[in-house]
Amino acid sequence: MEVVVLGAGPAGLLTGAALAERGHVVTAVDRDPGPAADGTWRRRGVMQFEHAHGFRPQVADVLARRWPAASAAWTDAGAEPMVVEVPGGGTVTIGSRSRRSVLERALRSAAADAPGLGLRLGHVDRMLVEDGHVTGAVVDGAPLTADLVVDASGRSSRIDRTTDPELEGLCGLAYVDRTYQLLPGAEPGPMSNPLGAFSGYDGYQVLLFLHEAGHFSVLFVCPTADDALKPLRLDAVFDAACRAVPALAAWTDPERARPTGPVMVGGALRNVYRSQRPLAGLVSVGDAVATTTPTRGRGIAMAFTQVDTLLRLLDEGADPTPLAEPFGAWCDEQVRPWVEDHIAIDTDAVARWQGAELDLARPLTTERICEAAQVEPRINEHAGPYFAMTALPSCPAPAEPLARAVYETGWRAPYADGPGRDELVAVIEETRAHLA
Ligand SMILES: Cc1cc2nc3c(=O)[nH]c(=O)nc-3n(C[C@H](O)[C@H](O)[C@H](O)COP(=O)(O)OP(=O)(O)OC[C@H]3O[C@@H](n4cnc5c(N)ncnc54)[C@H](O)[C@@H]3O)c2cc1C
Repeated sequence: MEVVVLGAGPAGLLTGAALAERGHVVTAVDRDPGPAADGTWRRRGVMQFEHAHGFRPQVADVLARRWPAASAAWTDAGAEPMVVEVPGGGTVTIGSRSRRSVLERALRSAAADAPGLGLRLGHVDRMLVEDGHVTGAVVDGAPLTADLVVDASGRSSRIDRTTDPELEGLCGLAYVDRTYQLLPGAEPGPMSNPLGAFSGYDGYQVLLFLHEAGHFSVLFVCPTADDALKPLRLDAVFDAACRAVPALAAWTDPERARPTGPVMVGGALRNVYRSQRPLAGLVSVGDAVATTTPTRGRGIAMAFTQVDTLLRLLDEGADPTPLAEPFGAWCDEQVRPWVEDHIAIDTDAVARWQGAELDLARPLTTERICEAAQVEPRINEHAGPYFAMTALPSCPAPAEPLARAVYETGWRAPYADGPGRDELVAVIEETRAHLA
């Protein structure tokens, strides 16, 4: 069969390579020309390319099974498995350390060598549709026909997205981050978990992701509505804020690390779920189906798990033309709940940072249930599969009464040691006064 994949990001390339490996003739079309001869890659239209990414274990697992050449290329480029010891013996891999750009470069280079997979530079204008059947796409004004079209055009694509998503909620969170690298011989700073250092303060949150080869990213996550925190996007203000937050100060000390780029601001972040379109010959994967708040690092794991499922359905003999039907049913059951969960936990997080008291008359969010495990360890068995994404987000629900009992005592999750929002604003204002 001839397949056209719209978009050569992680989801599109994995789908394209795996279909080509099955003997199909695949063309992946992308408006992005890929890395330039001097190695630079601007990646216009994919704003998250240089932003902090954490990779869940599903990413390396699916890649190793479905596209071993790309898995090897990612390892050769420096991706490091995060392996932890488990109580009682043995080890478990909990993710991969890598910058997102390192993953994408590895995928691109493996795609260039994948037999049966062609990469075509071009802008997809729209799909070709005849009598409810997608027969290809219009690329730079010219038709490109196919038996199956895979829409992997990502979160901000405009290709025939004429209807509103089935589910949509603004995260209400802004993402400001900067990349660094440890100086030669410098040890990593203090970590709160094997991924890096995460801590919550009254009014904002900081995340530090350790990547490969001593690279790391520092992020401030703040309510979008909080204008006083917006100057964090200035390099000097960001640096001053890092010095004021103990969890970051040790890492960003110029004696230990150097910034590798300017401060970056994430664009509008949305929790979105789009069900499959009722068109034969078309199936959507990756961010074209769902996006969630990046703070939980779910995006590429969800995208690759979708591709894994799509391939399983085809391998089990599903007819490619109405593939969106069984795949869509799976997405409704397995992907949509994560978007619903994010809308609930993000709304709650922003309200909490803005001073709202926990309303015990309402059901507790998964986040609140899991947080109560800090004082009620019996919750852990329900929280573990939620954090690992090995069960649906409804899995902590049976522990809701246990968590409720904890909150009824008046306990609330403590904030980390460091400046609350008002103290951070004071640091920001003082730094701006010096800059003026
Ligand atoms: C700030 C931020 C941080 C994130 N952090 C994490 C994280 O820590 N961990 C994680 O797993 N995920 C994270 N994500 C999510 C992750 O980046 C996405 O899930 C991932 O990019 C999805 O891959 P994709 O291939 O579906 O889409 P994309 O990567 O967006 O690729 C889509 C491709 O389609 C192309 N395209 C679009 N329209 C057209 C057109 N008309 N013609 C031709 N080409 C087109 C684009 O050029 C692009 O190459 C984050 C996202 C954001 C925004």
